[in-house]
Amino acid sequence: MNDRIHNEKLITPIGTSFVECIIPHLMAEAFSAYRKRDFTRPWFQVSPWENSHAAAAIVLTAVAIEAYRNRIYYLEKEKTSRNVPQNIGNIFAKKLLTFPSQKFESIVREVFVIRDVVVHSHIYELDVALSREDWDMVKYTEEKLNGYGDNKFKRSVNTNTGKTKLIRFNAQPLKIGFEDLFKVLLVFDLFAGIAEKAFGRGYVSVTWLQQSNNRWAENLSQLLTYYYDQVPNQKFVESVEGLSKELRKDFASFLLSGGDYFITNTCSKCSALGFHKLEGVWRCNACGVKMGFGLDDINNSKLLNQAHE
Ligand SMILES: [Zn+2]
Repeated sequence: MNDRIHNEKLITPIGTSFVECIIPHLMAEAFSAYRKRDFTRPWFQVSPWENSHAAAAIVLTAVAIEAYRNRIYYLEKEKTSRNVPQNIGNIFAKKLLTFPSQKFESIVREVFVIRDVVVHSHIYELDVALSREDWDMVKYTEEKLNGYGDNKFKRSVNTNTGKTKLIRFNAQPLKIGFEDLFKVLLVFDLFAGIAEKAFGRGYVSVTWLQQSNNRWAENLSQLLTYYYDQVPNQKFVESVEGLSKELRKDFASFLLSGGDYFITNTCSKCSALGFHKLEGVWRCNACGVKMGFGLDDINNSKLLNQAHE
């Protein structure tokens, strides 16, 4: 026997690296088109550049969630079923007392509904009215053709708004853009955080170190904050504040305290989102509170509160 050889059993769910290796690039491309959008006009589709990169990243995130489901079930010696969102809700509830599994299942289901919309290419018919002077679109109506959308779709989508009921993802494929991708990743961040609390690190392990604009994000929350701070659509900023507040109410106690998660990354004074930024900067955009290492105090690691400057 050669005792210099170490034997280990490895498992192979492909897809777990999509979030850390591919999605940041797709997100950057989607954002480059999104930031140029005119948010004051009616629109039935986002630009193909934004749409294709965002939709591809959403599909890959759903694939990653399924891969992690497989990994969790393998390590817990449980049997999977075809219903990934239900499996995830159930296994979390098994580990975390009082976990609201139905609510979380519905949220994950909405991600899979949007994945299906892209993967199964739902077809819509649009009636568009254009101005004769400049051929600008004045208004439009749209209708999904019958035959697209399964039970999960019918359960999750509000047909009046064309959006999912809880997270308000766009269910019309041409409308899917950066904002939908952002919210899908917010859900993924929450999923990874709950898994961390339920099973410890290592079950949903995302090794994160991503460069954005020559600055490094150490985790998904920081990357989301980096984009959140640059979002040009005030309406979207407000809706993310509202959504995160709601998710905090239900799920904050199922995240590790002291962990870096987007929905709990809030200002201690006014609770606005996006407090901890890239590279050890803590600053609130809403009320101006700052926190950081003062240069003179780096050696003894004393935190300086520089509020009210
Ligand atoms: Zn604040």
